[in-house]
Amino acid sequence: MSKIKVLFVASEIEPYAKTGGLADVSSALPKALAGKGIEVKSVMPLYSKVNREKYKLKKVMDMACVHMGNCEEWFSVYHTNEPYGNDVYFIEFSKYFDRPDIYHESFGEYSDNPYRYAFFCRAAMQLAKDLNFQPDIIHTNDWQTGFIPYYLKCGEDAFFWGTRSVITIHNIGYQGSFDTSVVDYAKIYPQDFNAGAFESFGRLNILKGGIAFADKITTVSPTYAHEIMGPIGSGGLHDLLRSRSADLCGILNGIDTNVWNPKTDKLIPKQYDIKTYKTGKKANKKALQKMFDLNDAPNVPLFGFIGRFASQKGLGLLAGAVERAVSSMVCQVVILGSGDEDAQWYFGGLPARYPGIIGAYIGYDETRSHLIEAGSDFFLMPSLYEPCGLNQLYSQVYGTLPIVRATGGLYDTIDQYDEYNGTGTGFKFYDIDPQALYNTMGWAVSTYFDRPKHIDNMITQAMKKDYSWSIPADLYIGIYKELSGK
Ligand code: ADP
Repeated sequence: MSKIKVLFVASEIEPYAKTGGLADVSSALPKALAGKGIEVKSVMPLYSKVNREKYKLKKVMDMACVHMGNCEEWFSVYHTNEPYGNDVYFIEFSKYFDRPDIYHESFGEYSDNPYRYAFFCRAAMQLAKDLNFQPDIIHTNDWQTGFIPYYLKCGEDAFFWGTRSVITIHNIGYQGSFDTSVVDYAKIYPQDFNAGAFESFGRLNILKGGIAFADKITTVSPTYAHEIMGPIGSGGLHDLLRSRSADLCGILNGIDTNVWNPKTDKLIPKQYDIKTYKTGKKANKKALQKMFDLNDAPNVPLFGFIGRFASQKGLGLLAGAVERAVSSMVCQVVILGSGDEDAQWYFGGLPARYPGIIGAYIGYDETRSHLIEAGSDFFLMPSLYEPCGLNQLYSQVYGTLPIVRATGGLYDTIDQYDEYNGTGTGFKFYDIDPQALYNTMGWAVSTYFDRPKHIDNMITQAMKKDYSWSIPADLYIGIYKELSGK
């Protein structure tokens, strides 16, 4: 039987360009698929921040062309196998992608974003055609690629008549909602601009169109799949998603175990595994306390937080609980993040008010993030919603017990602490309320001091979890097989 062919289309792929978890998935999943015998080619835009020299990009196509609205757009294509060995293609089109950033700059979103990504969708399909790569599946991701399922269903090109589409929703909070000016350029037929597909309150909603026309819809955890079918978690798309529930499923993301493995992690001072975690974590905690100017206190429970400063991450809960916690309990807190300016100002100011007890770094910093995962005792994730979440996965593998609000992937991946028999891999709370987070921090602190054997037991249970991409890749392959009949 011939191999299943997949064109994997994404607006960002790690390590070339990244703003969030989408880039991690778009790098790791194709790698895992290729390792299991799928013929996969990935494609993304050639932003000016992609390092062409470092990743040895080579031009493989010149003068490629797509028809957009009533004009022709001519573009080039670059290719590399670096650094992971799999095929990645880049659409070079300076009019849209030669910009300092990916989606927005300090002044706000690029106003032509719908044009940029409508073009990208067409160009990705044209690339497959020019390569004579007839995909069984085009795997699309988020709103930026949401036109592709529609173009396939329109059936304008016989080359793609055997091709089926999958759309993965990484975060339904971002739907690609724009005014309707792009409709002609993107060639959406008037009869398809309706409330069952691309139209939403008079605007164009690209993710909605993608969901309406995709053959299968996936999202990044089973609980998030359930949540987005309800009015609170769906950003208005629950009716459509419910109507497509037979084709919707949640598949948990994996983690890149080459990067996130305490046994081999070069970014932490002391590597460790399940047998040596006590000495390993102790040394890393000391280094973490030093890095964040905290008191050198090996026996004080230390809470870590890493994340975008966006309301989704539960910053209101964090702000409402952390100061109370350090004032009334023996504990320390480290915070790493950037984003919302008020949050930067507030969290960045905490170390001056609680010297030696709260540490903070405002910015994006890989080294600090690895050390927080390795050196903390507990990890805070009070997210309002969380499609999958990666940090709670890293935390468990690093033996750092997560404290999470029970939503989306956080609900699915944390086993609640059972005080009776000492099992579990973390602490879950339910209410969107700083008091709930505060209480749960208190529960963790009391367990740390009063039931240390339970903590050891939980650390061991957490570190044994398998979050490699092998399991999710098999689940995606199951979907591809169902759609392609191969
Ligand atoms: P999201 O995609 O919603 O931002 P995820 O938990 O899926 O959330 O992934 C975020 C990734 O970005 C994680 O790997 C996290 O460690 C990393 N990250 C977020 N903020 C920072 C930061 N300030 N410094 C270093 N890494 C960060």
